Amino acid sequence: MKSNEQDNKIPAELLGRVRRPAATGGHLPKPDTIKATLAEGATMALFCHGCGFTQGIDQEGLEYILEETKLEIPVDQTEVYIGLDSCNLCGTDLENLRLEKF
Ligand SMILES: [Zn+2]
Repeated sequence: MKSNEQDNKIPAELLGRVRRPAATGGHLPKPDTIKATLAEGATMALFCHGCGFTQGIDQEGLEYILEETKLEIPVDQTEVYIGLDSCNLCGTDLENLRLEKF
């Protein structure tokens, strides 16, 4: 049986490896995860269909994205997130950003 102390130790090189998920595609957003991200203070959530990760962005990040993409965010943002095909976790850039509803 493992002790808690053992469970909490993760070699740095392993962390480096698991931080970059594979862009397998076909992931579907989980509304609960997106809502939790917003509840933590994010202005908007990004959901990557490539690797399935949800990331929160702040107002500054959102403004940058809007400037780059010309997306128009609706007044009611409660059920909207930004979907993308590839993100900075599974790829190198944010790709094919669009507004989606959950
Ligand atoms: Zn991704």
